[in-house]
Amino acid sequence: MANDKKLIIANWKMNLNMHEASLYLHKLSKLIKTHRNVEVVLAPTTLTLQSLSLQMNLKQFKLAAQNFYWRDFGPYTGEISASQLRGIIQYALVGHSERRHIFNENNKDIRNKVAAAIRNNIRPILCIGETAWEHASGETKDVLHDQLMGGLANITSEELEQVVIAYEPVWAISAGKDSTPINVIPADVEMAVNAVRSQIKHLFGEKAAENIQVLYGGSVTPDSVADYLALPGVNGLLVGGASLNANTFNGIIEKAHKNSTVAKKD
Ligand code: PEP
Repeated sequence: MANDKKLIIANWKMNLNMHEASLYLHKLSKLIKTHRNVEVVLAPTTLTLQSLSLQMNLKQFKLAAQNFYWRDFGPYTGEISASQLRGIIQYALVGHSERRHIFNENNKDIRNKVAAAIRNNIRPILCIGETAWEHASGETKDVLHDQLMGGLANITSEELEQVVIAYEPVWAISAGKDSTPINVIPADVEMAVNAVRSQIKHLFGEKAAENIQVLYGGSVTPDSVADYLALPGVNGLLVGGASLNANTFNGIIEKAHKNSTVAKKD
């Protein structure tokens, strides 16, 4: 694997106002130990991106947008572009299931966003995953195939090096901070991640499949970190509800650090 750093991403969704976000960052930056084997990324609401970028130390954290529009500028009321976010963020979520299912984003929107992020020097985190119904019907691999084909259609092998894939079964994404986590069997995650890599191999070749960073997301808590990060081919985690508390999120980062240390010694 070209990059064996674990990528741990906090998706705050539409939570935390400017004041709360700043306090959270202050608290987490005191708690956190910088580990060479873990990269921590915060995805706050768009409103707080600029102020957090001024407050944070890039050696400790990187920033991600949760969403943006794919055109660089123009008459698109209410939107913000990757070119406007350039220099403020290092990553951006693309095609999160809440964007696909609540805001009806389709593969065309998503592939345009992947390309827009790359041309603006932002690493897209392409989120893919099946719904409960698709899962129950045994369609997981087909859905992943369709979402990867759709999302990566506009990019070259060289550009793929900027892309991160997050496998998130839609049915496992929690309803928020205090909801009961839905545990996905690690063997199922492994199967899905293998399907992602084999599709990348088919589209971009063996080296690309080996090198691409693939994350898992869905109800991750400090207790489940080790199970998922121990899976071969899982390079990190995308965390929603459990990232809203700085202590809990720091617990996840520490577990990720220990887990990658153990994995390296084996
Ligand atoms: C997410 O929003 O991407 C997510 C995985 O949420 P949660 O951890 O709350 O399931």
